[in-house]
This record gives sequence, structure tokens and C-alpha cells, in this order.
Amino acid sequence: MSELVPPALPHVVRLHAYTPGLQPAEPGWVKLNTNECPYPPSPRVVEAIRREVGEDGASLRLYPNPTSARLRAAVAELHGEGLQAGNVCIGNGSDDILNLLVRAFVGPAAADPEPGGGRPAAGAAAAAGFTLPSYSLYPVLVEIQQGRCQTIPFERSMRLPVDRIARSDARAFFLTSPNAPTGVAFSNAELERVLAGFRGLLVVDEAYAPFANEHAIPLLARHPNLVVVRTFSKAYALAGIRVGYALANPAIIDLLDRVRDSYNVNRLSQAAALAALSDQSYYDAIISRVKATRDRFVADCTQRRGWFTYPSAANFIFTEPRDSRGNTGPAVALSAFEFLRARKVLVRHFPSHALTAPFLRLSVGTDAEMRVLSESLDAWQSAPVPDV
Ligand SMILES: *Cc1c(COP(=O)(O)O)cnc(C)c1O
Repeated sequence: MSELVPPALPHVVRLHAYTPGLQPAEPGWVKLNTNECPYPPSPRVVEAIRREVGEDGASLRLYPNPTSARLRAAVAELHGEGLQAGNVCIGNGSDDILNLLVRAFVGPAAADPEPGGGRPAAGAAAAAGFTLPSYSLYPVLVEIQQGRCQTIPFERSMRLPVDRIARSDARAFFLTSPNAPTGVAFSNAELERVLAGFRGLLVVDEAYAPFANEHAIPLLARHPNLVVVRTFSKAYALAGIRVGYALANPAIIDLLDRVRDSYNVNRLSQAAALAALSDQSYYDAIISRVKATRDRFVADCTQRRGWFTYPSAANFIFTEPRDSRGNTGPAVALSAFEFLRARKVLVRHFPSHALTAPFLRLSVGTDAEMRVLSESLDAWQSAPVPDV
């Protein structure tokens, strides 16, 4: 069969696709591997979807609003800070927004003009930058556009390498804050120091900002090269609905609209997201609950177990398991991961980077789910360690 398929472009053939966390088909799992919200969305969301479908689904014959216009206005109003609908672009998940940013700003290195307007110099400007570790979708999107990746590594402290990012010549730099998979947040003071030097587009991916104490939206007014990206998937309990957005200068929003699918957000998703925004007090309550559970579980890891754990400003915890002999490392983390999986507790292990391989990322679930997780980790810790 495959010899009948015409040859694809070489960079697509070479592409390493993004690996999403497992979504088990069968029930019975304690699912703490993709940072979904453990609580259902606002009841207004279900009502709004029912209303949008109506008795006979007649509205589904019609295309959705192409710009998600009401949602843009509602998002601008939610954040205040002088933002208008013209500062907002809605995406089919924030992954769509990240893809649009790469499409608009990142391309083959040869397309980078020299400062003087001449031919590109050898080793021309890197096209897209990001830290390592961070969200592993960025390099995939960059490779699809045949851009070049410039990576700036963290040290184990996970302190932001401010000066290196400020000096980067990337066209666009993608910074996750709070970071994934560590949960470590970067302050606006640090972002301001990056913005004081960096001349490209700074994209701050704030998927987890509703769980943090600070966010970068107040910086938008002073920095026309800043984009803040948000999602309904985590804090709004709507990962299945696929809505995210960019906040930026209207000139940047205009560029994203040019490269966007004309109907990128479907009717039901627009209605669901609008309804969610109308029920902030519901979400304030579940976000507080997730944060309280998180802080208790961080204490469980650090104080009761003595495990090194990064301070989390997100809805997940990045911790370094220690076995009964006091050992840590990639094999120890893998052993804990597999032990949990055998008990139908699903968490995430990132073996491909030296700074992440000794750790597990635990999404914050309900208190009952975290109790199961804690008891399973106790059982792992008291299980005999096999000699290697
Ligand atoms: C979950 C996540 C996203 C993806 O969000 P969607 O809106 O579901 O596409 C984007 N960035 C980071 C860092 C994430 O963890």
C-alpha cells in the first residue's frame, strides 16, 4: 500500500510528531497525566451547548461566527487592563494559537533577511527559541514550518536564564509560565528584564496562570512585542471543547487572523466558552480547591517523604521520587511510574531530558484521587527494591 502513496516533503517525512499523554479508553483509571481539571465545568456550559444545539440541531447547518466575535469581546472584558476585542484572537485550543504564531513568524532560516536587506548570512538568525525543558509541542510546530530551533537550557534550579533570552536573536521566543513540566512560575520582574533586551516576539504561554499568583497580562500595554496565550483546557475544565486565545497588540492579532482557518472554532465551543466566562465565581471556587489540594500534596512529597519537589504555581506537581534505599534517578522514577500504572494510576514521566528523567509529573486531582496516589506511592516505597 505505502509504495502507492506519493512522496511527501522531506521535512514532513523526518518529522517527530508530538506525543500526547495517554487517554485510556476503558474506565477505572486515576488519570493524573494530562493536567485536566478533576471537576466538571460550570453547569452553564452544558446548558449553553444544549441551547446551541436546540431541539433539532438546525443551527448546526450554519457555519459558526468566523472570528468568534462575542468571545473576543468577552475575553477582553474579563481581563480588563484596557484590552479590546481587537487585542484577542480565539483558537481551536491554545495549540492552534501557538501554531498560528509559528506560521506567522517562523520559517525556513534562509527566509531571514540580513539586517542590511541583502542575502541571508551563513548561520542566519535562529527562527524560534524556547527553553529546555518546556512544552514539547513548540519544536514540532517549528519543524512543520521548516524553522530552526534555538534552545536555552535550564539548570536544575529552574531559574529563568533571563540574560540569555534577552540576548537571543530568535524571531519568536516561546516561554511557558508557569513552566511545564516543572510548575515553576516566572515573575513579571524577570519578564520585564527579558523584554528590555529581546527584540523578537515574546510569547508567554500561560496555560497554567490561573493557578499562579501573577500573570503577564498587565505587561501587554507597555510591550508591543509581547503575546500572552491562554486556554480553557485546564482552569476552565474544557479540554474537550478546544478553545484557547492570544492577547496581543492588534497588529499581531491581524497577522494571526490572516493565517488562521476561517472557521477555526466551532459553534458549540464558542457557546461553551462564553458560558464558562459568565460564571467566574464557579471557577474561582474550583481553582481554589485545586490549589489547596496541590499545596497539601506538595507538603506530602516534601515533608512526609523528603522528596525534592519544585514549588508549583500550576495544577500539577513535579517531584523526584526516592526509593526505600534513598536512591533517586531516571530508573527510580520509571519504577514508580510503572508501579503506579500497574495499579491504574496514570501519571507522566519525561525520560528524554536529564533534568526531567528523575522526576514524575503528577496532575492535581480530587482529594480522593490524591489519596489513592499517595497510598500507591507508599506501597511503591515499601516494596522491595530489586537488585540490579
Ligand atoms: C495544555 C497546554 C497547552 C495546550 O492547551 P490546549 O488549549 O488544550 O491546546 C498549551 N501550552 C501548555 C504549556 C500546556 O500545558
